[in-house]
Amino acid sequence: MAAYDYETHSYDVVVVGAGGSGLRATLGMAEQGLRTACVTKVFPTRSHTVAAQGGIAASLSNMGPDHWQWHMYDTVKGSDWLGDTDAMEYLAREAPKAVYELEHYGVPFSRTEEGKIYQRPFGGHTTEFGEGPPVQRTCAAADRTGHAILHTLYGQSLKHNAEFYIEYFAIDLIMSEDGQCQGVVCWKLDDGTLHVFNAKMVVLATGGYGRAYFNCTSAHTCTGDGGGMVARAGLPLQDMEFVQFHPTGIFGPGMLITEGARGEGGYLTNAEGERFMERYAPTYKDLASRDVVSRCMTLEIREGRGVGPNKDHIHLNLSHLPAETLNLRLPGISESARIFAGVDVTKEPIPVLPTVHYNMGGIPTNYWGEVLNPTSDDPDAIAPGLMAVGEAGCASVHGANRLGSNSLIDLVVFGRAAAIRAAEVVDPKAPNPELNSASIDAALERFDRLRHADGETPTAALRLEMQTTMQQDAAVFRTDTTLAEGVKKMQAVAARLDDLKVTDRSLIWNSDLMETLELTNLMPNALATINGAEARKESRGAHAHEDYPDRDDKTWRKHTLARVEGNKVTLDYRPVHLDPLTSAEEGGIDLKKIAPKARVY
Ligand SMILES: Cc1cc2nc3c(=O)[nH]c(=O)nc-3n(C[C@H](O)[C@H](O)[C@H](O)COP(=O)(O)OP(=O)(O)OC[C@H]3O[C@@H](n4cnc5c(N)ncnc54)[C@H](O)[C@@H]3O)c2cc1C
Repeated sequence: MAAYDYETHSYDVVVVGAGGSGLRATLGMAEQGLRTACVTKVFPTRSHTVAAQGGIAASLSNMGPDHWQWHMYDTVKGSDWLGDTDAMEYLAREAPKAVYELEHYGVPFSRTEEGKIYQRPFGGHTTEFGEGPPVQRTCAAADRTGHAILHTLYGQSLKHNAEFYIEYFAIDLIMSEDGQCQGVVCWKLDDGTLHVFNAKMVVLATGGYGRAYFNCTSAHTCTGDGGGMVARAGLPLQDMEFVQFHPTGIFGPGMLITEGARGEGGYLTNAEGERFMERYAPTYKDLASRDVVSRCMTLEIREGRGVGPNKDHIHLNLSHLPAETLNLRLPGISESARIFAGVDVTKEPIPVLPTVHYNMGGIPTNYWGEVLNPTSDDPDAIAPGLMAVGEAGCASVHGANRLGSNSLIDLVVFGRAAAIRAAEVVDPKAPNPELNSASIDAALERFDRLRHADGETPTAALRLEMQTTMQQDAAVFRTDTTLAEGVKKMQAVAARLDDLKVTDRSLIWNSDLMETLELTNLMPNALATINGAEARKESRGAHAHEDYPDRDDKTWRKHTLARVEGNKVTLDYRPVHLDPLTSAEEGGIDLKKIAPKARVY
């Protein structure tokens, strides 16, 4: 192998990722006086969070009565009883505080007449423990909420002297012999130099892995790099079989039309012009939760009621909405519809199709963001020195299905929690760990091997095979046959990582090599997804198994753990946390309220 020189940087904390979760963690760590670096492969404000449109959930009660317990109930039900109860309580209770903090940091939220933060209805968010009408809980900055949050948090992080390493690609974690994370090895994309970050705490905030699929709403950068690094470090991934399809990706290119469009009064129709959601979800109709709406759309298409010449998509209608609502509340999606679907939303419906949107699964953590490495005696054992937040992590608050606007709140609540916890466990006065050079060498060797990869298969070709396999075989509806076939195909696809061909051997702006590194990260995420799905013989949330149409709490109310080595996946399980943080006597939720029941909207 070519010898690689590298520069070493020492910090208390290194955050990998500068999306909403990474920036909130970075800011929180820096505020508490920890020496904090944030490493990111794209410029912070280009992270996928910038694309978040609809908003961020918190029970502020600005538009009518709301309560954190109602938010918690909706989240539990949304998760189809797979989320961890302690983490879901933490999310719902801390949400208002986290949103007011954002407001004080300077996020330019849309306002009500009285000047309060504007909130809109979103799917699955209700009142009175699912017995009352939909609630307006989703705080919004028009339809550019993520954009507003990201810019504000970046500014605030700079103000608190966090240091940014921009366009640095994290290759692998540095792990000690006894499993402590000590830092991360990075490649600086614009000048080809290599960098070792020595840290007392590494926080993975690398986002989701939507790009494991052919059609998704997420950016090309959403390649599950954190999950890939964790898998190579021998740590498990959790609940990866739960992949959210958003009901309204634009048919074809897949760009998102926010659920806020239905929140503001938009509705879906089939080829007969029928508002079919009224049939499936009589109470909440188009605002039922995402997995439910996506399945109904797929059924309509299957039964021959899709729209278009091939009857292969559905219409989203907004033209009945007042022009003022469209201009004020949904300006961005009006533009997206014009550019990507050639549609004027004031006159015509938008062609839409369920599109891969969010990964409920990820790196398992507790509600402080500490990464778990479960053992047979302790399902909650911690991997020291390592945290994960945001879409890369799995706390787990979204369980088997995430509610719209619950991700942005997850980013800031758990980014903030990670900082609070780090202030307790990281001692700024202690020396930095002595780095395990064998671990650094292994990372550099892998990097060098891929740089000089000289097989037969171009990266883009193998990526396409992975994406089409996942798209076909781990879809909205799954069967024993499609999943078994998918597992076999994915094993064969992953085995061909050994046969990759990289044509550019340089180290400066080498997008061929970067995409190859990303493919080696997507692959373990995809493998864990399809293997976990094949093993789970029930239907729950986003995992709709046609051979097992019912939820089976007796056998399957448990988290899947997948360890991936090469193209082999070993599955194990850990119990769901059933206990809340606060008992009913101390003001917590009455557990009877969140006992499992059929999930109808
Ligand atoms: C189109 C769209 C609209 C959405 N709308 C909403 C919404 O309205 N409300 C809501 O709640 N949720 C929404 N979501 C979901 C939500 O936006 C995402 O789940 C969330 O933004 C993810 O944030 P994150 O901080 O985890 O990661 P991201 O924002 O994806 O950022 C990942 C970061 O990690 C860095 N990174 C990754 N790999 C590496 C590496 N190897 N080395 C260095 N850096 C790396 C990247 O540079 C980036 O800074 C939406 C998602 C999409 C795709």
